Amino acid sequence: MSDLRIGQGFDVHAFTDGEFVTLGGVRIPHTRGVLAHSDGDVLLHSLCDALLGAAGLGDIGMHFPDTDARWRGVDSREFVRHVETLLAMRGFEVVNVDVTLLAESPRLGKHRDAMRSNIAKDLQIVPERVNIKATTTEKLGFIGRSDGLACQAIALIQKKALAT
Ligand code: MG
Repeated sequence: MSDLRIGQGFDVHAFTDGEFVTLGGVRIPHTRGVLAHSDGDVLLHSLCDALLGAAGLGDIGMHFPDTDARWRGVDSREFVRHVETLLAMRGFEVVNVDVTLLAESPRLGKHRDAMRSNIAKDLQIVPERVNIKATTTEKLGFIGRSDGLACQAIALIQKKALAT
């Protein structure tokens, strides 16, 4: 019997003046930047919350409080690697993850493989266990007005089988 756990995550960041956004650990040139304490990587933040949720470990704000100067401007891939370590310490491995970016722009297209590869590396799984999707909101709401962007993530993890 496998011990499977599932978790979901959601994150939003506002756009501000800037020339790039960081998504899935990839810096993408853009006409706006992202307002955030860290690098504002909504994709990795929602992913961390999904993984922490699956393991029953709370949320990203508990582990990386934005009041802590240690996390200012930090590469969110460090969050992912830290979360992976927390899971591994408890005997969990990641089965698969799936994320949906909600944004009018930028388009992910040519950056998708690099994001998958970053996430797979940080979670110590093969890229085919990482899926990245994107959608617009048909110009509706804050995302449609390009005031900000959001991301949803889901993660499945399992307890590693004990060696006998
Ligand atoms: Mg965030």
